[in-house]
Amino acid sequence: MKDAMGTFAEERKVQSAKCKVQSGSRHRFAFCILHFAFCIFFLVCDIPLVLAADTWPFTALRRETYRVIPGFFRVGVPVPAWDSRDSLTLASGTRLWQLRAFEAGGEGYALCVDVETLRTFVVREDDLWRGTTEEKERGPFVGSPFLPLSDSGDGGQGTSPYERALERYAYVPMTGKEQEWVVMTVDLCPSHRRWDRDLFEALREMRTGDRPLPVAVCISGAWVRRHGPAFAQLCAWDREGELDLTFVNHSDTHPVGARGDFLNNEGVDFEGEILNAEVTLLAHGVVPSPFFRFPGLVHSAARLKALMQYGLIPVDADEWPGQGDIPTDRVPEGILLVHGNGNERAGVRWFLEMARQTGLRERLRDGQLKVFSLTDYAGEE
Ligand SMILES: [Zn+2]
Repeated sequence: MKDAMGTFAEERKVQSAKCKVQSGSRHRFAFCILHFAFCIFFLVCDIPLVLAADTWPFTALRRETYRVIPGFFRVGVPVPAWDSRDSLTLASGTRLWQLRAFEAGGEGYALCVDVETLRTFVVREDDLWRGTTEEKERGPFVGSPFLPLSDSGDGGQGTSPYERALERYAYVPMTGKEQEWVVMTVDLCPSHRRWDRDLFEALREMRTGDRPLPVAVCISGAWVRRHGPAFAQLCAWDREGELDLTFVNHSDTHPVGARGDFLNNEGVDFEGEILNAEVTLLAHGVVPSPFFRFPGLVHSAARLKALMQYGLIPVDADEWPGQGDIPTDRVPEGILLVHGNGNERAGVRWFLEMARQTGLRERLRDGQLKVFSLTDYAGEE
């Protein structure tokens, strides 16, 4: 009996060991399959395996510290700065308009715009003050960045391209039809659909030599939070010089409003919509530009005036192909709006067909046609 029991127990041990071996190989097999599927997924989707997050100091940005602190500075000694592509050094003499202040990882930072180029940067607040001349008193102008710029004491003669753009588009947002400009803007309003990757691939292919196509991506905070891998891919293309992206604030949640009045709705937290989108962009590796696109292109005089208090330049559109019947055999002039968020496939189809019929890529390559960035356009006389 004892023998029988002993044999039985040994058999069970052997059986159990066999099971473990089989179960171990099953796990290894499953792991290999998963690993293989994972690699294929990343290869097919072309998702960057290494993101820049580990070198980006603003992932830990604290929303409660993010605020509007205007000020005008002239850089004294060269200061380190960040834009969406790189860390760099701002030369002595650079004139900066501070838009925001915030804290991340225990340090204070400032989001600033170069008033000559309209490019935005983040600099350490300490660096901004060290060796830098503040040209205007802050106190009387807090909450009203526009005032000190206009009140520069030179009758407006010496004001910068940024100041002039703020003034010029204060009552009527930026358009450009009569100027024979082509400015490409792609809206990424919140959407549960997959992005129109083929649109961005087509834009990528319009790179001429070492000059990537300038594209303004009007992006909502909600889209960034929902579509992490797609957003990371866009940022990677920008950093790698495949696309020249300007990230335009398109509000945080993009409220449509009960009557389709979008941000005009009085119940909307206008400041929250502006600042939360910026915080999301900064925390995800992007420095927002000084431009703003109103959702639905809907705005009132009151909202435009309020927008100016945040130092942002509103951008409308001349052509919105997804909403109208626009011929595909000519390249439209002005600011072109298509959606890249999967919500308006008609506009993407129109763009791809227009590009094919007009030979857009070849004409850009031959220099017959030029697409401009928003900063180029806004900085022009
Ligand atoms: Zn939108």
